[in-house]
Parts: sequence; C-alpha cells; structure tokens
Amino acid sequence: MTAFYIGDDNITKYGQAAKKKRIKRRNVKIKLLSIFIFLILIGTIIIGKCLTKEEEVKAEPVTIPTTTTTIINDVLQTNNEISKGSTKNHAVSEECKKYTYNAEKVSAIVNYKEKNDGQKIAFLTFDDGPSTTVTPKILDVLKDYNVKATFFLIGKNIVQNEKSKGLVKREFNEGHAIGNHTYSHKWNMLFPNNKINVPTFMDDVKKNDNVLKTVLGQDFNTRILRVPGGYVSRIYYKDPNLPELDVILKEKNMISVDWNVEIRDAAGKPNKSSDELFTILKKQVGTKSKVIILMHDTYGKIQTANALPQIIEYLKYQGYEFRTIK
Ligand SMILES: [Zn+2]
Repeated sequence: MTAFYIGDDNITKYGQAAKKKRIKRRNVKIKLLSIFIFLILIGTIIIGKCLTKEEEVKAEPVTIPTTTTTIINDVLQTNNEISKGSTKNHAVSEECKKYTYNAEKVSAIVNYKEKNDGQKIAFLTFDDGPSTTVTPKILDVLKDYNVKATFFLIGKNIVQNEKSKGLVKREFNEGHAIGNHTYSHKWNMLFPNNKINVPTFMDDVKKNDNVLKTVLGQDFNTRILRVPGGYVSRIYYKDPNLPELDVILKEKNMISVDWNVEIRDAAGKPNKSSDELFTILKKQVGTKSKVIILMHDTYGKIQTANALPQIIEYLKYQGYEFRTIK
C-alpha cells in the first residue's frame, strides 16, 4: 500500500514538475520575445533619430586646392567607407555633445578673463598626433577611464598611412574632440623671421581641414585651432602680424585655444619619466579650478601615455570633471 501511494505520489509529483517546467519554458519564451520586441522598438527609435539628425546637418561645399589632390586620392577609398558610416558617427557625436565646452570660454579661461564659478573642469589636450605608437595607447587609457579629450592634429601625420587615418576615425568615433594644428607644423614656413605669415599659415590650416574632412566625412567641421608653439608664443615674440591673424580667424569663425597647464613632455629636459611628468602636472594644476592641459601624443611621447592613468586618477580624486573643447 505504502509503495502504491509513494508511486502515485511520484507520478503526481512528476506530472507537476513537468507542468512547472512547461510553464517555466513558456515564461522564458515570453520574456525573450518581449526583450526582442523591446530591442527592435529601441533600434527603430535610434535609427529614426539618426536619420533626422543626418538631414539636419548641412554639408558645407568644399573647394579642394590642387595641392591636396594627391592626398585626397590617397584617402578616397577610406573616405567612401566613412561616408557610409557617417550616420553612425553622428549618432556617437550627438551623444558625446554632453562632454563639450564652449571654445570661447576655454580661451577666456586661458587668458584669465573668465570668472571663477568654482566648478572644477579639466580639458586634456593632445598635440602633434596622430602617431601609430603613442595615440593608440592614449586612446586605450581614455577608454578605460571613460574620459574624453581633445586632439589637435597635424595633417602630415594623418596622411602618413592607413593606420594613422584609422586613429583619427577612432578618436572621432570614441567621442573625442578634434582640432586643427596645421598641416605641416613647419616653423620656418609658418613663421619666417619669427613672424607669422598669415596667408601661408591659413593655407596650411585649410589644407589640414581638407585632410580631416577627407578622413572624417565632408560634414565634419572643427573651429578650434592650436597655433604651433601656442598663440602665447606669438604674443611673447611680439609678432607684428598677429592682428592680421585675429581678423581672419574671426572671419572664419575659428578660435585659437592655448593651455594653462603643461606637463612639459615636449619642453625642457628631454625623455622625462612618467613620474616626472606627473609631478610637473600636480604642481602646475595647483589650485586652479579649470585646467587646460597640454600634452603630446606624437612619436616618442610614450611616457605621456604611461603618465596618463595617474594624471586622470589624480584629477578625478581632486574633483575635476573632464570636458572636450568645441
Ligand atoms: Zn605642436
């Protein structure tokens, strides 16, 4: 009898278990289906938004000087790929707009013209890139810490090879801001007799802009400029052509942005260790509430990449938020 009951009980239990299993499976199916429908809905909304944004972007007509034809042919293939992906790029840029900060304000901070609102902001800026040796490491660190930076690029480094062009795309896609640092960065040509040759300088800026547009798509546009050596060096040398530069920059709605902190990775004693760079940074940051930090990601600046994690951690600990310059 006992055996019978136990058997019956087992059968019932088995039946219940099977039923539970069926219900469980059905619930899982329903959940998966809901998630699937939800993802499709979200996807549709995002794609819809991107398409609207893309329509809003007004592509600027670009006149391409004959001197850059070779470069353009060189990167034409890459450009086709990017153009296809530019909708995607714009979506990323849209999202990363929350990290941007007005360039005029940044410039005013550098020139001590901005009132201190007490908010601590750090602008990490990297000049002279891209380099295939240092830039990827910098980008990896920035990605690890989810920090956005501003890169002032040199055209002649961009067109060096496919990898360099790919790095510019990566900078853009990962939400960093891109600025113009001239095509050649050539001292004797841009500043003959230590005076800026404004037409030559602007040609070089334009040439760099064309390279950037060729790599990032024709609707890419940057208004931020970093003068090689800094605008401050032109003031220091009492450059008589500076007013001429000011007029043309204003005309072109471009803005020159210097720095108020430097880690001196391209000045003073060469080959400083990452600890030395970090020590300089701490000293220069001091009690400033807004810091525009000059660093370099060009060839040979590996110690800058090595110092970057400590720099970011220090600034975060001090309560700085990171912004890009726009
Ligand atoms: Zn430079």
